[in-house]
Amino acid sequence: MSLDAITTRMLPGAPARDAILQGLHTRITAAGSPAIALATVLVGDDAPSQKYVASKHRIAQQIGIQSVQVELPSTCTQEQLDAEVARLAADTSVHGILVQMPLPVHLDAERVLALIPAAKDVDGLTSESMGRLMRGLEGHVGCTPLGVLRLLQHYGIATAGKHAVVVGRSTLVGLPLSVLLARKGIDCTVTLAHSRTANLAEVCRGADILISATGVARSIDASHVSAGATLIDVGISRTEVGIVGDIDADAVMGIAGALTPMPGGTGIMTVACLMENTVNAAVMQGIAL
Ligand code: NDP
Repeated sequence: MSLDAITTRMLPGAPARDAILQGLHTRITAAGSPAIALATVLVGDDAPSQKYVASKHRIAQQIGIQSVQVELPSTCTQEQLDAEVARLAADTSVHGILVQMPLPVHLDAERVLALIPAAKDVDGLTSESMGRLMRGLEGHVGCTPLGVLRLLQHYGIATAGKHAVVVGRSTLVGLPLSVLLARKGIDCTVTLAHSRTANLAEVCRGADILISATGVARSIDASHVSAGATLIDVGISRTEVGIVGDIDADAVMGIAGALTPMPGGTGIMTVACLMENTVNAAVMQGIAL
């Protein structure tokens, strides 16, 4: 196939997000709308964090999930935060707990996460959730890695036997995503690349599915892409021209087989996957859905 024969297909997040939310809403309604509650814990008055939390509650309510909002001042102590999270952990009417990150620097995120039971860890961030992912046990997968998988599935991108290259090895995105894609049933052959990877462009050119989660604006260009590859952009960089991704979309157009836009791609999947995890959390805690 010559390069100029390729039309790059765009993979916007909105249709995939809407399909997930619609499916969850239908499922909740069909089960007689049982009480399912998602609790968020927000520390401080960081405007973007407040916005993210508000949108999570708005979407939860739209699909029939109740909201519990805990807000603490930025001056709160570790003991106060721990006590709130422990209270939510023990509350049987709360099915999912999300502690909005990042926390103010004087607070220990690991200590707080350790208080969240695995069944309620709808962000999939605790050591137990990560361990369950590694061991292939039932549990919650982080919303961003899960969102990438759901996008691929929504658009019918084949994964079995395909070579996925994940660039970025953070515990939030790249590392769990690499494990998820290699799971039985998803069946990618995975390469996990990072800032010390030698010959990154060459490694990336070996990908059928290339996922970049580095936050290095437009660092993936034509030299990283084989004809027909599917490109998933997770990176978010705020620049003078607005939000841009890790992938230089103009440079890869006509080479890639498919590409997620940034913004409008992976980011908007995250909240839908949070809702999916919350519904699964309710099921794990005995709600019939
Ligand atoms: P981290 O900073 O924790 O991790 C970045 C990773 O990228 C590291 O593993 C790092 O390698 C690697 N890296 C950095 N520079 C390069 C490079 N030049 N070449 C190859 N690898 C490189 O970030 P996060 O994982 O938390 O987030 C990554 C990006 O994803 C950010 O832009 C963030 O805003 C975005 N994001 C998007 C979400 C969405 O919903 N779309 C959700 C969450 C995050 P090393 O380990 O060697 O340092």
